Amino acid sequence: MAIEQTLSIIKPNAVAKNAIGAILSRFEAAGLRIVAARMLHMSKEQASAFYGIHQGKPFFDELVDFMTSGPVMVQVLEGEDAVAKNRDIMGATNPANAAPGTIRADFADSFTENAAHGSDAVDTAAVEIAFFFPEGVCPRTR
Ligand code: ADP
Ligand code: MG
Repeated sequence: MAIEQTLSIIKPNAVAKNAIGAILSRFEAAGLRIVAARMLHMSKEQASAFYGIHQGKPFFDELVDFMTSGPVMVQVLEGEDAVAKNRDIMGATNPANAAPGTIRADFADSFTENAAHGSDAVDTAAVEIAFFFPEGVCPRTR
């Protein structure tokens, strides 16, 4: 298995319920390393661009409104099979289908307010990481 990087976002509803630490702990406990992190409150323009692939879908406006409703924590996770591992830890997109013990099962409030984002492939991860961290991730020092 390859060492990969993936983009993770703790969405506004999870930040609002003080779950940043609990969620980051799950990544670290699973062996994923946080190699970049930043807190920000996205503009409508940023959220629309980030979710550009979903433009025109029925949930798009609600998604952009939600993602701009409060601050988010954005981080790059690195480790073996990081893209799929992060999505396993998050659980299914619709929290009604998320396995027990996953982030979405434990912290989602609705289909839209599903607590976390994770890239869906290595190539989209690279694009998403560059979107939030154009300066790159922190170099390994030890
Ligand atoms: P994922 O975040 O699991 O990769 P998608 O890329 O399909 O899922 O969708 C992006 C986000 O849009 C989801 O995480 C969720 O917040 C929202 N979303 C997707 N589909 C729906 C839907 N049918 N109804 C409401 N919100 C949705
Ligand atoms: Mg997606």
